[in-house]
Amino acid sequence: MIACPKCGAGSSRVVKTKPNPEGQWRRRVCKKCGGKFSTTETVKTKPGSA
Ligand SMILES: [Zn+2]
Repeated sequence: MIACPKCGAGSSRVVKTKPNPEGQWRRRVCKKCGGKFSTTETVKTKPGSA
């Protein structure tokens, strides 16, 4: 779970999503304080493929 960097609330909604070479970039808005922040969620690759 990703917490708001401003108030620490764990609930946020995604307003924008972009594909990223390293994963998913997401623009989020906190449900509690309305603060906007973005996250990059990395996609895990299969182990043992390297
Ligand atoms: Zn917040």
